[in-house]
Amino acid sequence: MRTPTAVTDTATQHFLGLDDAWCAHNYHPLPVVIAQADGAWVTDVEGRRYLDMLAGYSALNFGHRHPDLIAAAVRQLGLVTLTSRAFHHDQLGPFCQELAELTGTEMVLPMNSGAEAVESALKVARKWAYQVKGVPAGRARIITAAGNFHGRTLTIVSFSDDPQATADYAPYTPGFDQVPFGDAAALAAAITPDTAAVLLEPIQGEAGILVPPAGYFAEVRRLCDEHGVLLITDEIQSGLGRTGTTLALDHEGVRADLYTLGKALGGGILPVSAVVGRRDVLGVLRPGEHGSTFGGNPLACAVGRAVVTLLRTGEMQERSRVLGAHLHARLGELVGSGLSEVRGRGLWAGAQLAPELGDGRPISEALADRGVLVKDTHETTLRFAPPLVITEAEIDQAVASLAEVLRTANTTAPPVAANGRPAAH
Ligand SMILES: *Cc1c(COP(=O)(O)O)cnc(C)c1O
Repeated sequence: MRTPTAVTDTATQHFLGLDDAWCAHNYHPLPVVIAQADGAWVTDVEGRRYLDMLAGYSALNFGHRHPDLIAAAVRQLGLVTLTSRAFHHDQLGPFCQELAELTGTEMVLPMNSGAEAVESALKVARKWAYQVKGVPAGRARIITAAGNFHGRTLTIVSFSDDPQATADYAPYTPGFDQVPFGDAAALAAAITPDTAAVLLEPIQGEAGILVPPAGYFAEVRRLCDEHGVLLITDEIQSGLGRTGTTLALDHEGVRADLYTLGKALGGGILPVSAVVGRRDVLGVLRPGEHGSTFGGNPLACAVGRAVVTLLRTGEMQERSRVLGAHLHARLGELVGSGLSEVRGRGLWAGAQLAPELGDGRPISEALADRGVLVKDTHETTLRFAPPLVITEAEIDQAVASLAEVLRTANTTAPPVAANGRPAAH
């Protein structure tokens, strides 16, 4: 039997205190201090084990410390780790070729964080609009969706509609229009001759794992073709196997002109991102017009190549499909018993809490007390995105814990964590 009440443990208290005193408070983590991890499991500083059902928001698609990825990193650490792009190195070209072949694209622009990949795609789209489409100087516009999440830079939060992400960061970058997600007619009405691109998540992650209506992306593609507008899909969280296909947009039978990739591309080891897509679009960049000191570094490329190798056989995508169907079926059994809806695709599920349960935070804390790590998004959705290496039995264990927590929460008001202490916020 696990001992709950992590916050009363000495070592845990120590590290929570240090974080609180010395680290900027831009996150509100669960009170679990992780010291070691392996596959789908993490161990805290008290020696307790937890099933990781979040997987670093998809940065850990292949689990913690996947042996192939660690081996690739260790091998490259013994050779060369950084050259800057002032020189060539022997990992960049192979990485770009292998990633392009995996994603069925023609060219790769390597960057580091996801936000940088999105920024890069936006810059490329504007340049393409002026140089190829013929939009008058300074007039290019980009359409985004309500509820979007594309990162945290100033330009990216400029087109966010989340007050928490945007408040007190003005003035914002101009040139963006917003339409409701999943509404092709609204998109059609928003396109003007100055529209350079449409930027969309194939499934909106932070918004609560929202899957658009069937046929939406086919219609978006048709509109983009009709009006000479680029379709950019942000696959930073949804891509690289998460939904059961290499790219989440593959489910829609549609190709984007540019895709942003990140998170899992770094194998959970280091930040690696990329814009991949059409040669005639990425080809607008000439030397000196965009760059990054760390983008495409040898260590990043070596790890990225190992990630591509893991995805090339389709085994990971297959695991996501098969185990994802199982996860959705098991979570679906809880609809009416604490959950009101389960959304998503593959090993990616948004479990909507029944309104009477209120906030997801105490539920996440009670789950942590039972050895299962998840995180709420937008207060009332629990996000399940386990590593694709998780087993069916582990999924069952996590869902059984959730059922227990929901049962307890259902019979207590206000929600109380499993250990009896009032739920902290
Ligand atoms: C996480 C995420 C980003 C930002 O990635 P960072 O590496 O945190 O900058 C962008 N888009 C989507 C869809 C994401 O999930």
